[in-house]
Amino acid sequence: MNIEFDNERRPRILLIYTGGTIGMRRDGTGTLVPFDFASLDDEFPSVRRLHLDIEVLKLTPIDSSNVTPGRWVELATVIRDNYADFDGFVVLHGTDTMSYTASALSFMLENLAKPVIFTGSQIPMGILRTDGRENLITALEIASSRRADGTPCVPEVALYFQNRLFRGNRTMKQSAEALSAFSSYNYPPLAEVGVEISYNYAAAMRVSGEVEPLRISTDLSGGVVVVKLFPGIGIDILKAILSVPGLKGVVLETYGSGNAPTNGEFIAVLRDAIERGITIVNVTQCVGGTVRMSLYETGVGLQSIGVISGRDMTTEAAVAKLMYVLGGGRSPEEVRRLLEEPIRGEFTA
Ligand code: ASP
Repeated sequence: MNIEFDNERRPRILLIYTGGTIGMRRDGTGTLVPFDFASLDDEFPSVRRLHLDIEVLKLTPIDSSNVTPGRWVELATVIRDNYADFDGFVVLHGTDTMSYTASALSFMLENLAKPVIFTGSQIPMGILRTDGRENLITALEIASSRRADGTPCVPEVALYFQNRLFRGNRTMKQSAEALSAFSSYNYPPLAEVGVEISYNYAAAMRVSGEVEPLRISTDLSGGVVVVKLFPGIGIDILKAILSVPGLKGVVLETYGSGNAPTNGEFIAVLRDAIERGITIVNVTQCVGGTVRMSLYETGVGLQSIGVISGRDMTTEAAVAKLMYVLGGGRSPEEVRRLLEEPIRGEFTA
């Protein structure tokens, strides 16, 4: 399939508002309330100076702490349904779970060849000192930016916040206070924004030649849990968690470069879970660096029982990838194969 990339026409951007701090303003009593994003012109007239055709689509606004995979399916469906009519998408989302949603969408949107840029703000749009205005305007600009050949600069799911554009599935919310709320410790920014927007073309994906039609995968598996190791974690509690009916996948947050206790009882509990068909992915509790299970004896034990290395993947991406890969009725071999390779640039090969 050939997508028409027309450099002459004004780019058409779909702005999808899902909720979060960015869409708030103070009412007469000083309480933060959502404002009507559908009336973008009234609230935010300067957006019209961007020379873009912007349409606003408002989902039921929610605090992103209430996001569920159902919201991811809703978003993916909206993007699929509008894909042919727009050059790019900007998703306004609460910051708390933005990295989870961006990660999930990166897997669910198969054959994506247009920008899907997530952004939000730490300070509500209706407050003078908001960071939302800059985040929104730059996200719109990025979603509409094209290379000289007319193809999008960033044809992938990305997250823009405070002067930096990141691959969405590499991000984590790092601060509940700083305006620079997100980081990508293991992958460089796709763009840095100063006076100019400077794209890192070597890091970003690119559209070349024929592209397959966009498909969305909405069959996300339940039964996924994150288990974070800590000194003193109870074997009985771990055993109970790994015996919960319906459990299918575990993101195991280990120490350092993927290490865990060598204690036989601990390893036996994990081995038993794997033998019962539960998939365990090892990610590190460290924000930077990668899992290398062969480095220490404390990692080798995990490797030998079939724990899968998540390399330098974030917990957010690992959760989303497990839900995606364990859904869709795949065979255990296919599940392992997809987990062992980066499928959307989510870890460093
Ligand atoms: N609790 C809000 C949310 O994630 C925080 C924010 O948007 O910054 O929806």
